[in-house]
Amino acid sequence: VRRWLSLAVILPLVAGCLAAKRVGGDGRREEFPERPVAGQPVLLRVGLGEGLPKQRFACTGPWQLRSGARDRTLLDLAAGDTVSATVFAGKLKFASDLEGGLLDWLVLAPRDPGDLLLWNDRTWRGELHVIRTPRDSTRVTVVNVVELESYLAGVVPGEIGRALPPDARAAVEAQAIVARTYVIGRLEAQRARGFDVFADTRDQVYGGAAGEDPLAAAAIAATGGLVVYRGDELADTFFHSTCGGHTADCAEVWPVAPDPLLRGVEDRRPDGVAWCGESRYAVWEQTWSWSDLERVLAASLPAYLDELAQHPGSAWQTDGFAPAYAGADPRRPGSLRRLEIDARTREGRVAALGITTEAGRYRVRGDETRRVLRPAATGAAILRSAWFDLETDEGRRVIARGRGWGHGLGLCQVGAIARARAGQTARAILAHYYPGSRLAPLDGAALP
Ligand SMILES: [Zn+2]
Repeated sequence: VRRWLSLAVILPLVAGCLAAKRVGGDGRREEFPERPVAGQPVLLRVGLGEGLPKQRFACTGPWQLRSGARDRTLLDLAAGDTVSATVFAGKLKFASDLEGGLLDWLVLAPRDPGDLLLWNDRTWRGELHVIRTPRDSTRVTVVNVVELESYLAGVVPGEIGRALPPDARAAVEAQAIVARTYVIGRLEAQRARGFDVFADTRDQVYGGAAGEDPLAAAAIAATGGLVVYRGDELADTFFHSTCGGHTADCAEVWPVAPDPLLRGVEDRRPDGVAWCGESRYAVWEQTWSWSDLERVLAASLPAYLDELAQHPGSAWQTDGFAPAYAGADPRRPGSLRRLEIDARTREGRVAALGITTEAGRYRVRGDETRRVLRPAATGAAILRSAWFDLETDEGRRVIARGRGWGHGLGLCQVGAIARARAGQTARAILAHYYPGSRLAPLDGAALP
């Protein structure tokens, strides 16, 4: 399912690509950094930055500079000391007030795990590792090697919200379990880059120690080690902000096979009101002038065809474009003629959108409708959801009126908060949004 995520960069997992550094003259090969063994605390490698020029580091207490490849302490530093790192002559060059040197893999670590490293105006738990960027060996990559539960403390508040009321705790617990399950499933995913996960929306947004929040910390501790399973495997725990009253089936969102765990479920209270009805995005409206929408489509329709081309054999490809005349160029849509909803899902999301232009007729499906009907021609924003009605005033303007925010798969965050405040437990919330799943402590066998 994740392979359809258009932002995901699929990289060949070149085994040993980073592991092939010779250490000293003894021919021993080292992994960077070592994968923890099952049964011990899980250490994550979070890629904080890649392809960077010279970087500076400090620490809130006494700290050390080590050579990761030789696992040898090179410098003992005091709070207030700074270290810089850059690439020089194919090696990492470090410099402090005391001394400098060249090595392959730089490790910066506080002496007391309670102290925090300082980098990029933020504080970080665990260690910071600096390596040469694999795809640009004149630059550096900064990796935070951090214990899983500390990582979650820097992730969960950003995903579900800060300073939530205490009675929302079961929802924060559910988010903690979902975030833990997600990241375990991504261990080794970016191995060729030298880490496991990105620190941004390509995985989960991780703000380090500054991103922490007391309610999230309590929720993470209370659910320590718990993950969502489907049978004996980790579940795909997708989540989104606001479903609008019914979550989505994965096969309606992306061109993938149906999955019982990611099937749409009702999200309404007994009185019929959506659990996520309090969301700011419960209902929304988006207006384009006809010419603005033509500018949006000039870029977004070719991008949609490119996306389809990456998934040969998908059912969505068969009617992606029908030319208006022989030789029409699908990459140049030209002026907009008609915009209509061809099909809806059972609960009412747009399943297929028909867009007729000078060049021909495009059929855009599922969640891709949100990327094709972008609010503006430039920028990363996409339409709030695929659950909308269209009002077209031909030649003048188009209005989309919709509900919800996000793809609609899996857990509905605003719904989960309302359910928690009504007394539902994290277990009940997860059982509702991931039908057929089970909650259990992480089994070491699930680690790669
Ligand atoms: Zn909902």
